[in-house]
Amino acid sequence: KAATVSAALRRPTLIPKYIGVGRAFSTSPIAMSTTKKVLMVLYEGGKHAKEQKKLLGCIENELGIREYIESKGYQLVSTTDKDPEPTSKVDKELKDAEIVITTPFYPAYITRSRIANAPNLKLAVTAGVGSDHVDLAAANEKKVTVAEVTGSNVVSVAEHVMTTILVLVRNYNGGHRQAVNGEWDIAGVAKNEYDLEDKVVSTVGAGRIGYRVLERLLAFNPKKLLYYDYQELPPAAIKKLNDTNKLLNGRGDIVQRVEKLEDMVSQSDIVTINCPLHEGSKGLFNKELISHMKDGAYLVNTARGAICVAEDVAEAVKSGKLAGYGGDVWNQQPAPKNHPWRSMDNKDHCGNAMTVHISGTSLDAQARYAQGVKDILESYFSKKFDYRPQDVIVMNGEYATRAYGQKK
Ligand code: NAD
Repeated sequence: KAATVSAALRRPTLIPKYIGVGRAFSTSPIAMSTTKKVLMVLYEGGKHAKEQKKLLGCIENELGIREYIESKGYQLVSTTDKDPEPTSKVDKELKDAEIVITTPFYPAYITRSRIANAPNLKLAVTAGVGSDHVDLAAANEKKVTVAEVTGSNVVSVAEHVMTTILVLVRNYNGGHRQAVNGEWDIAGVAKNEYDLEDKVVSTVGAGRIGYRVLERLLAFNPKKLLYYDYQELPPAAIKKLNDTNKLLNGRGDIVQRVEKLEDMVSQSDIVTINCPLHEGSKGLFNKELISHMKDGAYLVNTARGAICVAEDVAEAVKSGKLAGYGGDVWNQQPAPKNHPWRSMDNKDHCGNAMTVHISGTSLDAQARYAQGVKDILESYFSKKFDYRPQDVIVMNGEYATRAYGQKK
């Protein structure tokens, strides 16, 4: 393979080609002569990229924006080779890159040291929502703008939250396993199966996703909907939920804000986490906070893996303190084979509703965040810097959003 690679590199007509470890595509020889570089880090699509052209978020399809980027006189280098720092292709290519495009699904961690080694870096774009894989403090210090495609996959995630809640509460996995294994032990499944109706459900974070989860929960006639967030929902948003509840379920006011997280989790049958990962939310759901949860409650996390302490959650599921945990985000991505959440379960094998990081990368979402990345680049290339305000996380050395904690 090494011979093929070096031969290919000597013959410019053969590029794009694999370069180095992992998959990497470089640009045309003409564009390579320029010093302006965009680095893109995406997951590998392999045969799936061939089968499904809508898979824009993989390395083969490069968000569908290679031609666009090259038409602006920039060189595009795209790679899957992101680890380990400092020897990966990302480290090598970021050194003289002006723009880096990454995705939360296969995060290239744009760490303080990587930023320090990238003096030309001006813009870090997240293809998706959630820019915690970029060291935001370091980006601020170096005046690197960090932008994401806000809203692009919030419906996708809210649907995944609902799926995960239902999978756990209805013990879907237990029933499905018997169906495909040729078994028929109704009691063995039903002993862990409930209705979502009449349950208290709460969200940590009531932003775009959290609010959409609350909206969708109304269809299941819950007992109460609680939220914990340092930003209060606007009165009109609360009214909309309460009015819908009256219309759908003939019941009165249902939504309450809770000031103390412990108070909220202690009342909840189901807790869903929908806040960003930042220094105030890292490790939030640890043994101590979980001890305040109801015995047999469910915890669903599609926000970020590191908001939960992996070992504490696994232990709570194993002991039955939590009836189940599910979500799609992991504190290390790709998660190692021996990550506790892969094998975590209870004695009835119905406590694990984990998936790989897919909730925000449905094909519909990919189309939206691919377009959103292009729009952000257009604002940058045109030198207007007229980004959609909601897309900007940090700019000119300051936080442009309050979602990543109450920072100056
Ligand atoms: P948003 O900015 O609209 O809402 C986030 C809310 O969380 C804000 O209201 C903020 O005030 C609140 N918040 C922040 N810290 C908090 C804390 N410690 N406790 C309680 N509330 C807190 O963001 P969003 O679009 O709803 O997305 C939320 C997060 O979901 C993203 O930051 C990302 O990490 C995650 N996400 C995951 C996927 C996925 O594929 N799994 C996709 C999109 C987003």
